[in-house]
Amino acid sequence: MPVAKVVSMEAVKLYRKSLSNLIGKARCLSCDYEWESESPPGFDWLECPSCSLVKGRFIYPVKRKEPHWTCDCGCDYFAINTEGVYCPHCGTWQDGFLETIERV
Ligand SMILES: [Zn+2]
Ligand SMILES: [Zn+2]
Repeated sequence: MPVAKVVSMEAVKLYRKSLSNLIGKARCLSCDYEWESESPPGFDWLECPSCSLVKGRFIYPVKRKEPHWTCDCGCDYFAINTEGVYCPHCGTWQDGFLETIERV
């Protein structure tokens, strides 16, 4: 029989802070408060800074916190097919972004 492990909320907060975060606008489903939220990937429910309930949700697509590649037209969302990566706004093939990725 598995033994339940008690983890403090402080440990959970430290673990969440250690992960790369997503940022985006969120809204509380309880009190309708909206704020710019930051949360690790995989945490769908966000703590509302107004009412403190964990009923916040991102309301638009989120982005990772790191800098993003941007097409010359200004678009920073891309489509991928078997030929490569292209901008869905202007159709330009995207290259050069792999050289910007820091290798570990
Ligand atoms: Zn709220
Ligand atoms: Zn473009």
